[in-house]
Amino acid sequence: MSSTLFSTTGVVLARASYREDDRLYVFFSSELGKLRVIARGARKPKAKIAPHLESYALVRVLLVETRGFYTVAGADTEASFHHLFTRDDSAHLAFASAHLVDLVTREGDPASPVYHELMHWWKFLETTPALSVRRSGVMLGAFSLRLAGHAGYLPELNRCLHCRTPIRPSYFEWSSTRGGVVCLDCLERHQEMWLRTQALKNETLKLLRMSHHYPYEALLQTSVSADVCEEFHQTVDALILAHFPVIPVVPIQAMCQVDPAGFFR
Ligand SMILES: [Zn+2]
Repeated sequence: MSSTLFSTTGVVLARASYREDDRLYVFFSSELGKLRVIARGARKPKAKIAPHLESYALVRVLLVETRGFYTVAGADTEASFHHLFTRDDSAHLAFASAHLVDLVTREGDPASPVYHELMHWWKFLETTPALSVRRSGVMLGAFSLRLAGHAGYLPELNRCLHCRTPIRPSYFEWSSTRGGVVCLDCLERHQEMWLRTQALKNETLKLLRMSHHYPYEALLQTSVSADVCEEFHQTVDALILAHFPVIPVVPIQAMCQVDPAGFFR
């Protein structure tokens, strides 16, 4: 049986127990995208590989590929994101972002833009001051929107989906299933094509645009009222439901508060 030995650098997005002593990891690298890899004996108390694969870190792995299955032959930590775990808010956001990346990517897809977005996000979380629950939600919503963009599901935020005219304030509605804004003229003329649109505040559309374009640091400075925050989350959650290949079981706002303790350390 022929096997290939190779190495790659990346991060672990998720893990699961496998057989009696083994562990299955979802590994994500810039070069190879998402791979499911098996680490034999990783659940044994003195396993040497597991500590490298069970923390937020950039890990160099040595992999053996046999008939499309990948086994970990060695692992070494290149850089650690351990600062993420010094606070609850950043730990929760790091965990949620790894989960979202796992949901939006498929094995075999090119990964580079999503990978770089995740690295950029983790570096941002390491250096940012503590975030309130509301601000955490907005930031994770922005991260989700960028992931959707990299995966080809970015909503149209500037021009009417139907006639391509630039959208004027207060003269549009929103379609989650079609992914973006439609002008009121098109809505009036082609009612049969636009059945499930909804009103959206100008401020919410503005926040969606900023979420996609602004640096994360600048987005931290924008003021967001409670009702705009609520509408922003409804819109982002509906987009995820309509377009992500696998959908999360909890809304983005709740995901910011899922405790990763016991999962990663
Ligand atoms: Zn139009």
